[in-house]
Amino acid sequence: MHCPFCRHSDSRVIDSRTSDDGLSIRRRRQCPECGGRFTTTETASLNVIKRSGVMEPFSREKVISGVRKACQGRPVTEGDLAVLAQRVEEAVRQTGVSQLDANEIGLAILGPLRELDEVAYLRFASVYQAFDSLEDFECSIRDLRADRAKSAAASDEG
Ligand SMILES: [Zn+2]
Repeated sequence: MHCPFCRHSDSRVIDSRTSDDGLSIRRRRQCPECGGRFTTTETASLNVIKRSGVMEPFSREKVISGVRKACQGRPVTEGDLAVLAQRVEEAVRQTGVSQLDANEIGLAILGPLRELDEVAYLRFASVYQAFDSLEDFECSIRDLRADRAKSAAASDEG
């Protein structure tokens, strides 16, 4: 990392801290040549390959805009969407890959969205998984009901 002041090719790390979401590291650096201090942010690169084959950096904004439509009229706040996008990014980064298909992002969205709002989940899943019949909806709703019964049973035991 070149010093932004004098272009010296070396710098010393004087402080590192992990960001609140744990996804990046900020380092305070000092140039041994001119003494100038600057900050760098390190984030592991994560790219999304779109259906068109074009690669672009993963963006939480894209996740949010993809989900927002499904959440129309639902009690979902911008804050909820931000948390959802963060969870999606964390889940994707945990797999350790540096690039993935747009399709896999869609898959990673399904879980957190389902916990957030079941109706929004059904809407999103119907588009993403290309539901083409009532049976597809019935199947998903049956899954949701079964899981709800399971978690109700679990909380009865506890
Ligand atoms: Zn310098």
